[in-house]
Parts: sequence; structure tokens; C-alpha cells
Amino acid sequence: PTLFSAPRPNDGLSVLRSVFGLDSFRGQQEEVVEHVIGGGDAVVLFPTGAGKSLCYQIPAICRDGVGVVISPLIALMRDQVEALRQAGVRAAALNSALSAEENRAVRQALRDGELDLLYVAPERLSAPGFMELLASIDIALFAIDEAHCVSQWGHDFRPEYRDLIRLREVFPHVPRIALTATADPTTRADIIERLGLDAARTFLSSFDRPNISYTIVERANARAQLLDFLKGHEGVSGIVYCLSRAKVEAVAEFLNDKGIPALPYHAGLDARVRAANQDAFLKADAVCLVATVAFGMGIDKPDVRYVAHMDLPSSIEAYYQETGRAGRDGQPSDAWMCYGLADVSQRWRMIAEGNAPEEIKRLENAKLNALLGVCETAGCRRQAVLAHFGEAHAGGCGNCDTCLNPVDTWDGTEAANKIMSAIYRTGQRFGAAHVIDVVMGKATEKVEKFRHDQLPVFGVGRDIEAKTWRSVVRQLTATGLVHVNHEAHGALYLDPGARAVFRGERPVTLRRDRTRRARDTNRALA
Ligand code: ADP
Ligand code: ZN
Repeated sequence: PTLFSAPRPNDGLSVLRSVFGLDSFRGQQEEVVEHVIGGGDAVVLFPTGAGKSLCYQIPAICRDGVGVVISPLIALMRDQVEALRQAGVRAAALNSALSAEENRAVRQALRDGELDLLYVAPERLSAPGFMELLASIDIALFAIDEAHCVSQWGHDFRPEYRDLIRLREVFPHVPRIALTATADPTTRADIIERLGLDAARTFLSSFDRPNISYTIVERANARAQLLDFLKGHEGVSGIVYCLSRAKVEAVAEFLNDKGIPALPYHAGLDARVRAANQDAFLKADAVCLVATVAFGMGIDKPDVRYVAHMDLPSSIEAYYQETGRAGRDGQPSDAWMCYGLADVSQRWRMIAEGNAPEEIKRLENAKLNALLGVCETAGCRRQAVLAHFGEAHAGGCGNCDTCLNPVDTWDGTEAANKIMSAIYRTGQRFGAAHVIDVVMGKATEKVEKFRHDQLPVFGVGRDIEAKTWRSVVRQLTATGLVHVNHEAHGALYLDPGARAVFRGERPVTLRRDRTRRARDTNRALA
């Protein structure tokens, strides 16, 4: 009750200072806050760490009534509510983690007009009586956090987000603010359409995270490569992402064995262990959290110094989101990824074997292709990532591996000709491994069975080692000259564009694979 006695300031800047103890707004925060206080709808597209929360928290405090925040994660709600209460804001959450008793108390506070902010999960809106309850009280605004969840194009689709369109129908005069750190134009457009925010003002800031340094390496010995990377990060905290639970466990154990304090985090762990590990990560100074991608959304740890990927993420969007968990405090941080052809085939298979509709599968394949393009680029990584989001960057950022150590390229025209001929001559029915065997002149059982040792291309590529051939195939795939038929066990087939290469009209520049380069350098030095 003491909270009621102090008169509340109701302009944004005073609230920023008196409630949150901050000096000034950042970037476009003030514009958003003023716009929403004035009753306008807003779509806020800022990268992680930009300070999106204040964009709805401050207007909710300034306006009459309660600000209702729709958020997909209970853990996130809990943290936010706790932080707000500590700042003296009357905040609560309604979710399935509360007892019936607690839920009743929150609903009563809501009816009595005693809340500034209420956090709810999206499914709450369809709970019996909840919309009626909202309709009976003063609502300051609706904030739709992680708004990309409404879009199937996004990386974290939640069907319940689709029902949020009802807010516009039931509360046409209550301002709505949708927020996300998702940068791709398709998802953005989808958010606006799905949530009926066509009249909203859009606030878009650059998605560049200049303090994050990007490095992508090809897999040779992943664990040794990871150790090497972590050597530069002793005494700080970071996240290592793995695709599977088993791998999470194995990598965490491996790091502990090597003297690096690491904790596993995945959905299969006992809830208490999971909570304890998350807590240790949030509070301790130097913990390496080895996790599946389920971990991280909404986690506000400002001093994550590195994010490492042991497996290829699902898309550039996912890569950007996941690496974006590093360096929210603006301090230099590292994003490191180790990937290999095995990752790629596994992803093709997962997409092919999934039960998504054809249209979505095609999209997933395109996304994977785009990500491979970033992996294989000989140019600036930052430029490549931002270009995918429709944001122009001059390149030469000076803070990514390709800028810092310009990659060797080589004229791959001849190699491209050889491998693409082999693909063609074997009938465009075989996967990379077999085609590579053919050009390398390996008389395997399969090669003999199909009489591929009789082909003119048999053995024409003996001068290049298998690892390099795999990189060649990958790069040709990334540039779209070669495609993978995931419905036919990864059979390679040619794009019509390959004709220009055969005719000598299109040169092919390839990136020299780094492990080979490192070894060549060592050889040269020896
Ligand atoms: P986002 O949701 O955009 O990822 P958050 O709202 O979690 O970002 O804010 C990220 C961090 O920046 C938080 O620690 C927050 O307190 C801090 N922050 C936000 N706005 C400001 C500001 N105007 N001045 C100082 N710190 C801020
Ligand atoms: Zn760069």
C-alpha cells in the first residue's frame, strides 16, 4: 500500500529516472515511449540488448490502467516481474506456475486496479473468463513481446500468438505494441499482418551488433577447435550450443575434464537441475553453459562474452538470435561457429523427413542455403548477415574472421567442371560422397557396381583431397550451381546455371578451406 502514497510521475523521462534509475533514453526508446503514451500502436524492431522492455514498461506506468504484457516464457516473466517489483513497480504474472491461491490474488489485484503491469502467456487469453475480466478493467496497453512467434517464417512459431488478433477486435482503443529482435523482412511483414498492426508506427533500428566479432570455421576436430577457441575466454561466461541433448551432455563433460567449468542445459534434465544450472550461469562469473537452443530466449545476462555453435543453426535468423545473446552490455564479445558437411546433410534429412508442408520444406531448404552462403563466403560475415536482413553494410567491418584474416580464394573453375561433370555423368542420382569417390578415382564397391570407373571423369580429381572436394561441393551448393535432392537421399543435381561454367563463360572462385590453408602454412614454415 505504501506504493500508492507516492505520486507517480507520468512523463517518460521522469519515470526512466525515478523508477528505473537510468539517466537517459537510448536510441529510439524515447520516441517509442512518447508514441505509446500518446495512445499509438507501435511495432518495435530493435536488436537484442537495445532495451525493448522499457518501451512498454514506461508507457504502462505512465498511462492509466494496467499494461498487459504477452510473453511466451514463464522464466522470463518471473525475472521481469521480480526486477520490476524491486524497482517499486506493481507487477505480477498470471501463469500455470502459480498456485490457485496466487492466481486468485493476482486476479483480485487486477480488479482492484492495483497493478501497473501484468505478464501473461498467450494461451491465457483464451482461458475461460479472462477476456471478460480484462474488459471489465482499465487497460493501459497491450505489449506483445517476442512478436515473431506469430509468424511461421520466424524461428519460433507459437500458434497461440495467432489469437492475439482478437485484442484489436475486443479493445480497439487500447494501444498495442509488438516487439521483436527478429530482423528478416518476411517475418516483419508477417507480424504486422497477423497482428493487424498496419496502422502502427514502425520503429526500426540497425541490426548490426558491432561489439560482436564473428568467426565461422570448418570442422576438422570440433572439440579441439572448441578448446582452442575457449582458451581466449578464461574467467568469463558464455554459451556453447549443441543440436542434441546427448551432445550437450558429452561436450559439458569433455570441457569439465579439460578444466573448463561447464554445465549442461536441455529440456531433458530434471527441472531442479536445469533451474540450478541456469541460476549458476546467471550468477557465477565464469560458467560455460552447454545448451540446446531451447536455452536463451529471454535470458537477460548482459555479460555473456561468447556464444559458440558446435552445430549449424537452423537459419541466419536463428544464428543471429543465438549469437545475439552475447555482449548485451555492449562490450566486445565473440560469436564462433564450427560446422561441417555432416551438419548440412543432417539438416537436409531433418527437413526432408519432417512432416511440414512442402511449401515450408522448400523455405527451410532456402534458409539453410542462405546460411551456408554466410558460412562459405569469402567476404565480410557482418555484411553477409545484414544483407540477408535487407540492411546494407559496406563490408570490411574489421571484426569478423574473413575481414581480419582475408580468406584465400582459388580459381575453382576447373574443379567445378570436373565435379559437375561427374554429377552429370553419373546421372544426377548420387550424393556427394559417391561423386567425390568417382572424381578421386576410388574403385569402391558402389563405383564398380555402377561401372563408374569406366567414366571419363573417373579419377580426374586425384590432385585434390577429399576434404577439399567436400568443400567444393558445399560451395557450389551455396552458390546455387548444384542442388541437393533431399527426397532422393541427398542426390546432387545441376542447376541450369552450370551450363555457363561448362561453356567457360562463368569462372568459379572458391574459398580455400581453412584447415588445409593452416596446414599449408605450417608446411611452408617448416
Ligand atoms: P531487449 O529486450 O531489447 O533485448 P532489454 O530491455 O532486456 O533489451 O534491455 C537490455 C539491457 O539494457 C537491460 O539490462 C536494461 O536495463 C538496459 N537498458 C535499457 N535501456 C537503457 C537505458 N536507456 N539506459 C541504460 N540501460 C538501459
Ligand atoms: Zn567483416
